[in-house]
Amino acid sequence: MTIAGRFVEGTDYFDVENPATGEIYGRAPECSPAQLDDAMEAAQRAFDQWKDDEQSRRGCLLAAADAVEGALEDLASLITHEQGKPLAEARSELADACSDLRYFARLELPREIVRDDERTFVEVVHRPVGPVAAITPWNFPVGTAVAKLAPALAAGCTVVLKPSPFTPLSCLRLGELLRPVFPPGVLNVVSGGNELGAAMCAHPVPRHVSFTGSVATGKKISAAAAPDLKKVTLELGGNDPAILLDDVDLDEMAGRVFANAFSNCGQVCVAIKRVYVPERLYDDVVAALVEKAAALKVGDGSLEGVDLGPLTSTTQLDRVAELVDDAVASGAAVATGGRRVGGPGHFYEPTVLTGLEDGTRIVDEEQFGPALPILSYRDLDDAIQRANRTHFGLGASVWTSDLARGAAVARRIDAGTAWVNTHQSAVPGQPFGGIKWSGIGVEGGARGLIEFTDVQALHASKL
Ligand code: NAD
Repeated sequence: MTIAGRFVEGTDYFDVENPATGEIYGRAPECSPAQLDDAMEAAQRAFDQWKDDEQSRRGCLLAAADAVEGALEDLASLITHEQGKPLAEARSELADACSDLRYFARLELPREIVRDDERTFVEVVHRPVGPVAAITPWNFPVGTAVAKLAPALAAGCTVVLKPSPFTPLSCLRLGELLRPVFPPGVLNVVSGGNELGAAMCAHPVPRHVSFTGSVATGKKISAAAAPDLKKVTLELGGNDPAILLDDVDLDEMAGRVFANAFSNCGQVCVAIKRVYVPERLYDDVVAALVEKAAALKVGDGSLEGVDLGPLTSTTQLDRVAELVDDAVASGAAVATGGRRVGGPGHFYEPTVLTGLEDGTRIVDEEQFGPALPILSYRDLDDAIQRANRTHFGLGASVWTSDLARGAAVARRIDAGTAWVNTHQSAVPGQPFGGIKWSGIGVEGGARGLIEFTDVQALHASKL
């Protein structure tokens, strides 16, 4: 682990599995309560200087991006071996992380002067909130961590990061790589199970808990942060609908819809998780998606040419299998896939399900895996209502040949991001977050930076 700028051994260790082989790939340290105290105290101590040294923060973040870039192959291999995604996807996760670091290194908070006249000067000042507890999931181990570190550190906060116990190794390595880059205590990386995350939320030092993970854990974190009135940012699960309009160009769009449902084996918070199709186009859409599924090469992500890796854990594999079996028992048809892949590792066939209704578990719940339900609709208003009838509100997309019509439909969907003819896409400056049970607050852009600050109204009387 990295605590106060130093390498720290665990008092105990836990195994980390390679999901493609089912074998133990490595071991990660279990952070003890005393070590967590050390990390928090280091973050608290480092905060005093770090918060006031904007120039050095910018330099360190740029150097961090260079360090990640320099170790890209090493980190990509770690991600693939502990998480399962194909190497090309791991590399792209890291390239995005480097962009994030550079973006926040250069981002200026907008200066907001409310009044400046002969009598009064009023300015809104953003001050770093303090040490941050960052808790992340296993689907993008480094990506989700850097999405927190980069804005938090840029804002002047210090960080204690805990990655998921399923995928701790790449973040532990990240901590090691960045040890020479940041002053001691600015970035601390610890590892352990869910109890460690709970201890971080209950700890008196952090003023902000930045969490990415499931809705169930998000609710616990919100409750745990309440007694100390810590701020929280919650990036939680989704059940993103894609609504195809009757003028969609399938030759052009089917591949994009497919890729946005199945990349990272469907284990993406903003993956397309249910597709609404006009009745007239239903058979054509299913045929196009089945064709794409058949062309995928499933296998160990560390091997060349593999498109779809394993699910990251047996728990996740069992969950996807259970939801598909439940759908079939409820009358769904399997257009392709629908089975575990034999042999070692947590593989599941890319699966397309037809003939289902809202109310089936795989339509209503977040499947987080390579199984996609296709639903038909007659009336667009009805499809929009069905898309919105959920506790989730992370992303949604509309697919059409008419951009203006697509945007008009997209605006009616209750989601933190609404796309037209794309899904998952983001540009620097774009805020990202969920509404309803999909989250509180945003990451990305100036709003993501402001998230790690408190507002001070500076009011001076000139007379
Ligand atoms: P999870 O909630 O099980 O675990 C996430 C992290 O929280 C892990 O580090 C875990 O150890 C920790 N944790 C668990 N219980 C805790 C507690 N009581 N207190 C503090 N920390 C605790 O989620 P997961 O299974 O790792 O991730 C999958 C989920 O994450 C999916 O629902 C997915 O949609 C969501 N996700 C959301 C986004 C987003 O930006 N909205 C991005 C990626 C993943």
